[in-house]
Amino acid sequence: MKCKEATHLVSAGMDRPLNWRERLGLRWHLLVCHYCSDFSRQLGFLRKVARDKKDH
Ligand SMILES: [Zn+2]
Repeated sequence: MKCKEATHLVSAGMDRPLNWRERLGLRWHLLVCHYCSDFSRQLGFLRKVARDKKDH
């Protein structure tokens, strides 16, 4: 996944749920890319993912 796709998915994730394939690709990209990691953190995306991951 390229940074352009990753940032697009981060933005899209604000408006709609991402499917598992998108989440998997995005999560992997965020692990290796500090730029997109920062970008997603600024949008609060990681907080949302963490919340979705927890059941309670
Ligand atoms: Zn990136």
